[in-house]
Parts: sequence; structure tokens; C-alpha cells
Amino acid sequence: MALDLHVHSTYSDGLLTPEALCTLAIQKQVHTLALTDHDTTEGIASMVLAAQATALAGNQFAFIPAVELSAGDDGRTHVLGYGVDAANVPLVAACKTIRQKRLIRGTQMVEALRAIGIEIPGDYLPPPPWEGQAIGRPHIARALIRMGLVNTMEQAFDRFLEEGRPAYVPLAHLSATQAISLLKAAGAVPVLAHPMRLRLEPQVLEAFVAFLREAGLQGLEVYHPSAGRRDIPMLQGIADRLGLLATGGSDFHGDKGTRAMLGGLPGGWHTWEQDLAALRQAMLEAKPPATP
Ligand SMILES: [Zn+2]
Ligand SMILES: [Zn+2]
Repeated sequence: MALDLHVHSTYSDGLLTPEALCTLAIQKQVHTLALTDHDTTEGIASMVLAAQATALAGNQFAFIPAVELSAGDDGRTHVLGYGVDAANVPLVAACKTIRQKRLIRGTQMVEALRAIGIEIPGDYLPPPPWEGQAIGRPHIARALIRMGLVNTMEQAFDRFLEEGRPAYVPLAHLSATQAISLLKAAGAVPVLAHPMRLRLEPQVLEAFVAFLREAGLQGLEVYHPSAGRRDIPMLQGIADRLGLLATGGSDFHGDKGTRAMLGGLPGGWHTWEQDLAALRQAMLEAKPPATP
């Protein structure tokens, strides 16, 4: 695809820097890229510079600043915020709190693995205190792969890191409506990420999305690798009935052996140009309220 609206960098749990993401985007002929790091806007400044350098080198390239907030009781409701003001004080503070909780959880997960006899070598994880990087389960999953204990990220989650597994440590999250309010106050357009990951029946999903729309949700990530061929029309139907924007992104983290490739979206997004234009229009209209 010529666009990818869901990409992670080293500022959260991705493996590539903003500069490397821009280089790869040009190689893959992705001309519009949104950086959606988890619970941080700190990568946006580097991405702006990298995107400017990419465009100055003569490439057609546009960058959309964004963020992905984890929310809901289990943290599995992810809300993307497009056009976010990276310096918005309440959002930056909320992200900092989330990262501090993650920092504590990261340490607890390492301890839980140690308790079952798995000692992760110190240099297999980003260096402590992990402040900037918000260590997450993917970091630990990669360490387990490197140790030869599992072969894939999926196996690492299945055997160790999912709820009910030995190294799972719960994390308190924002509610989905809190995440939406925070994003709107930061001038962003809130979009529900990868709805299929919620594993809800279509009618239940539609009711949930309708509830979120009442709280200010403006879009649904219809085109994500988690959506199968038959899911896409169902998701598009929900977006149409509820008057929501349709977006798409690969959720690229840089890992080999996962399905997410930069620009690798499910097929069939024939309306991407109109949908991108509608998103851009919504971003223009999503002005943050004037601060007194
Ligand atoms: Zn997500
Ligand atoms: Zn993501």
C-alpha cells in the first residue's frame, strides 16, 4: 500500500528508529506514514526531522503524528490518535504515568520468569531504567526467542506472557473513554485500533463501537492484518452505519516472522485516497480547545 497509518518505532516497542522507518517507507513505496508509538509522543520530534530530510531528498513523503493508547480493563482496547499535539501537557503526563506502571511491570515480568528458572541475560533487554522505551511484553518475547526458548513472538505470548501464563503481570489501564477524551483534548482524531483483536461477536463489537462513538470516537481501523477477508466488509459496515472514518495500518514493529510488514495491509482498500482525505479533514477540524 502507498500508505501505512499504524507503525511503531524504538520509542515504544518497535525495532526501527524513526530515520530507519522513513528509509524503509521509501523502499516500500509507502508515501504516507503515521507513527503510532504506544503511550508516548516522544518519537514524534525525531520523526518530523526524519520526514523532512526524506522529503528534501526528493521523495514524495508525508508524515502524520499519532499515538496509540492502551485502554480498557485488560489493556487490549487500543485507541489511535491522529494529528496529536505531541506536547499536550495532560497527554504527556498520562503517558508518563502509563510508562512508569509499565516499568514496574517489566521488572515484575523478569522476576516472574526468574522464579520459574528463566534468567534473561541483562543485555537481551533495553538498558534500565527503561524510562524512554517503556519496556513491554514484546521486548521480553524477543529475549525469549533469542534465548531459544520459543521460536516466535506468538509462542512467547502463548507460553509465558498471556493472561494465565507464568510471566503475565496485569497492568492497570485508562478506560477507553478516558483515552478518547485525552486524545481529543490533545487535538487528535481518535480511532479504534485493530477491532478484531477484541474478539467480540459482530453485534457486540458494533454496540461497543457505538458506545465509544458517543464518547468521541471518530474512526475504526478497518484495514489491519488481524482482519480476515470476511471481517473487512463487516468492519466497513460498522464504520458506515456509525458514520466513522475508516483507516488502515500494518502495526509494523520490525520483527521478522510476524505478519506485519511496513505497508502490508489487507487487500481491498479501494477507497484509501478518499479515506485518507477524510482523516486529514478531521485532523484539521480537531483543534484542541484554547487553553486559558
Ligand atoms: Zn495495538
Ligand atoms: Zn500498534
